[in-house]
Amino acid sequence: MPWPRAASTRADARWASASSTAWAASLRPSRKPAPWPASRASPKSSTSSPTDPPSCSASTRAAAEPSTPSSPTAKSRSPSPASPSSPIAPGGSTAAKGASPRGERTAASVAAQLRAASPPRRLARPAGRAGRIGAVKDRARVVVIGGGLAGATAAWGLARRGHRVILFEREERPGVHASGRNAGMIRRLVAEPAIATLAREGARLLGEPPADLARVLDAALVRRTGSVLLAAPPEAAALRPALATAQAAGLGAHEADPRACALHGLRPLPGATAFVTPEDGVGDPHAVLSALLRAARAAGARVECDAPARVRAGAAGAVGVETRGERFVPADVVVNAAGPWAEDLARAAGASPPPLSHYRRHLFYTGPLEGIDPDAGWVWDVSQGFYARPESAGLLLCACDEEARPPEDARPDAAAALRLAEKAARAAPRWSEHPVARLWAGLRSFAPDRLFVIGWDAGLRGLFHLTALGGHGLTVSLALAEPVALAVEGRTPAVLAPFAPTRLQAVPS
Ligand SMILES: Cc1cc2nc3c(=O)[nH]c(=O)nc-3n(C[C@H](O)[C@H](O)[C@H](O)COP(=O)(O)OP(=O)(O)OC[C@H]3O[C@@H](n4cnc5c(N)ncnc54)[C@H](O)[C@@H]3O)c2cc1C
Repeated sequence: MPWPRAASTRADARWASASSTAWAASLRPSRKPAPWPASRASPKSSTSSPTDPPSCSASTRAAAEPSTPSSPTAKSRSPSPASPSSPIAPGGSTAAKGASPRGERTAASVAAQLRAASPPRRLARPAGRAGRIGAVKDRARVVVIGGGLAGATAAWGLARRGHRVILFEREERPGVHASGRNAGMIRRLVAEPAIATLAREGARLLGEPPADLARVLDAALVRRTGSVLLAAPPEAAALRPALATAQAAGLGAHEADPRACALHGLRPLPGATAFVTPEDGVGDPHAVLSALLRAARAAGARVECDAPARVRAGAAGAVGVETRGERFVPADVVVNAAGPWAEDLARAAGASPPPLSHYRRHLFYTGPLEGIDPDAGWVWDVSQGFYARPESAGLLLCACDEEARPPEDARPDAAAALRLAEKAARAAPRWSEHPVARLWAGLRSFAPDRLFVIGWDAGLRGLFHLTALGGHGLTVSLALAEPVALAVEGRTPAVLAPFAPTRLQAVPS
């Protein structure tokens, strides 16, 4: 039966895997208020452990500095020399203790720090000890808006450096949008050097998670399978510098004859080269998000779902967020990790954020197939725009469609199956007539130059953007935690410099 007629458009975006079912069941909604603005909790109330399920309700930190919900903080917002919009001056009263020397850091030094196997020493202290509460008092109050991979990694990175973090997610559970609907491919070979640096580090960390993340894992974050990028001469030329960098970094990436590779039925263009990266693999987006949120909580963060938030701005910049009606949560920093909604969120607060575009992409699951090796690597023809990888005894297929959409809960379009079948007729003829068992869609968000948007807003002090991760958000997620935390402290690492929102923003006069 031809593909389009057999297509199913089930709205449930999750793969039919046991791990995703367990993940969804464990993320329960909560309406509990956050500790710092609303109430003073006793240190004895810190009860959760790193092994708590990743529900939205657990909190591991006692309140350190309660304040009146209706009154924004009067804290001085002296700008830092390193980062004009940062309200947390390095070395100042809200700077994290034990942080690295002030000033810009090199990619190598950030990578070295990320490699440190041990979490910060303070995490080893029992929760509720007076020393920890005292230390927390001097640390910044950060509200993260968005419970996708971006928000979760920011919450983890900031909480493990001692900041007081509350993450607000609008949906009933985290990861409902792109972060829970992606293809799971961990790809190191990327033509854009700035993204490739983060992709290599992110991929490495998924395989070797830092100790505090490893402690809360109940599933591996990534499975090494290897990967093949098929590229016709123009795209191959663009990939070769990335290949050289990957090889210099010690990866086994190399060029090969496509005929020597398992291609899952993909048919390369004449003259195409295969770029093989043995270290690549398939990540479990649900395990990654779940682990990030657990580790963030273990470090003291609070996660609240069913909590749509908006930024409140005053003369001093962003002063906090409002959520669930009139509840006000003051903050020194607001991290805008709202995915496709990030631009609207910032604009509503009076900022002039970079313009973002959102493209819907469909993924297709074939259902079980004969002869699929579940451990075979994924294959991506970057010239024809088509990829395939083993999934649940069948294949996950994608025609790399990009349809511009507004920020929305992306719904699958049955006509996408027709377009897939048309494209497969050339790129993967074996699958052009095959029925589709499941079909779902998600939005990938991009800045005009397709680089991420990470850094301080040019106009609204205290607002930090972490968005437009495009098609790399899973791969780079862990690599963002530490640099983002450092940037929030006012010491933007070199790895983040290419992603500064100011490159795309008109600076207000
Ligand atoms: C089809 C598809 C395939 C992909 N494949 C891969 C892949 O193979 N490998 C890879 O590395 N990446 C892949 N990606 C990219 C990756 O999934 C994204 O880059 C990443 O998930 C983006 O995460 P995010 O947190 O920025 O956005 P989102 O996941 O969209 O999260 C944003 C969150 O903010 C919340 N929010 C919005 N507004 C508010 C508000 N006002 N208050 C509170 N919460 C709010 C939303 O509810 C949402 O949960 C793919 C993406 C898609 C769509």
